[in-house]
Amino acid sequence: MFEKVLIANRGEIALRINRACKEMGIQTVAMHSTADSDAMHVRLADESVCIGPPQASQSYLNIPAIVSACEITGADAIHPGYGFLSENARFAEILGEHSITFIGPKPEHIRLMGDKIAAKAAVKSLGIPTVPGSDGAVESEAEAIRVANDMGYPVLIKAAAGGGGRGMKVARSASELSLALSTAKSESKAAFGDDAVYMEKYLEKPRHIEIQVIADSQGHVLHLGERDCSLQRRHQKVWEEAPSPALNIQAREKIGKVVTDALKKLGYLGVGTVEFLYEDGNFYFIEMNTRLQVEHPVTELITGLDLVREQIRIAAGSALEIEQEDVTFAGHAIECRINAENPFTFQPSPGKITDFHAPGGLGVRMDSAAYAGYKIPPYYDSLVGKLIVHGKSRNECLMRLRRALDELVVGGIETTIPLFQELIGQADIIDGAYNIHWLEHYLARRATGRN
Ligand code: ADP
Repeated sequence: MFEKVLIANRGEIALRINRACKEMGIQTVAMHSTADSDAMHVRLADESVCIGPPQASQSYLNIPAIVSACEITGADAIHPGYGFLSENARFAEILGEHSITFIGPKPEHIRLMGDKIAAKAAVKSLGIPTVPGSDGAVESEAEAIRVANDMGYPVLIKAAAGGGGRGMKVARSASELSLALSTAKSESKAAFGDDAVYMEKYLEKPRHIEIQVIADSQGHVLHLGERDCSLQRRHQKVWEEAPSPALNIQAREKIGKVVTDALKKLGYLGVGTVEFLYEDGNFYFIEMNTRLQVEHPVTELITGLDLVREQIRIAAGSALEIEQEDVTFAGHAIECRINAENPFTFQPSPGKITDFHAPGGLGVRMDSAAYAGYKIPPYYDSLVGKLIVHGKSRNECLMRLRRALDELVVGGIETTIPLFQELIGQADIIDGAYNIHWLEHYLARRATGRN
């Protein structure tokens, strides 16, 4: 097992990794930018190293500085968390060259899944159903018109290097296609330095359902069920739950088997998430994330497994201690992403948190690095924390979530807490009857006073 792990991230996930390491008796090193000297993970880790100025490009993405931090502190492994360098295949390779273990999948799989066109083709050949669309990149407007005519409108133009919902544009008719194509290309170029795009049939009422997988170096691949992340704004997840209100045991087992069989063939290692759109009983692959997800706690609460611990064990060469039959799903869990934003306009609201009180009690988990007096720097994402609740049933979970949201206090800045307090009273949310477009429609109606 590793003696010392360097945590190459910040915020709540850095704290989450620190917690797992501590429980495993592993020493931790926090690395941080000058903007994060007062961060909670810096205080709680055994050691800390300042690696650069606030701009992520010069600190959290600065590979030479991170490798140096590892060498100075003698850390033998790096946990990248999510975001930043977690899906950077070159980073994983460089660590290998320095005899530092990257706690994550093999570089070739990170690279494969990072190219969404190649990923789609690869999983299709492994037997995973995909969204109907172009075969590979769409090179010209003429080709886009041909593909759209073949599959019918509406269509979605997507960035090959995509992430965070950027570079994605819908065209509902031939007249919208040209503009959608050029905007998707320029957005993608600006965000990812790559203007390659591809096309998919735009699904009108799907749910976003993703399958959590975990694989060890001995070739065991397990699935840990699904998460339903259909409540989204601008293609970004806001609320995640498990199990999905839309899936039954048979459907879960079936898709779980398709996914685990495919990843076994691929020789996948570590944790990963295979994301699907689910409509009319059919699954359509959209992408695979080769890292820990923000929403991993909902899976932890219903399976009782510690995913970060498993990641670390697998990276150290240990075998999974359980078989697929041992994975059981108990009760229901929901996660709300508490962001430093206006709850309805989503304008960022960085600044000083004057009061902070995390809810507690049975079935309540708050993953946050915030505290009273903490100043949220303007340089990074706006996540203040994640409130995750567990109940024996979905109904109990909703009641508990309402209670926990009422207990949670984050003073001095605006947060998304009021949005969740409002959502939890909506009939469709109570019934679990929502798809990926529900929240956008709700917010649009709300903005015009029609709710
Ligand atoms: P990103 O990598 O930018 O997050 P994804 O491919 O994971 O992009 O898609 C993000 C979200 O965009 C999905 O959860 C879904 O809401 C929406 N989306 C993606 N593909 C489609 C599609 N073919 N039809 C309708 N919505 C889609």
